Amino acid sequence: MRCPNCNCRDIGKIGTNQYYCWECFVEFSVTGDQVKLFHVEEDGSLSMIGGELNGETLIVQAQEVQQIG
Ligand SMILES: [Zn+2]
Repeated sequence: MRCPNCNCRDIGKIGTNQYYCWECFVEFSVTGDQVKLFHVEEDGSLSMIGGELNGETLIVQAQEVQQIG
């Protein structure tokens, strides 16, 4: 398992199919071939910053998708 954003191996598992990169501080979820990247905001919310589907990089506009904490 490598970070889809920076390709480093310093990955922590935070939930089912959910991981955190300690190198570039992004959260990402893996569902089959689909990888979604999230930026963790200062208030703890997550913003989707991009995703990868079938090897094709997909950049989406930042949007609040989930509230945690
Ligand atoms: Zn990373």
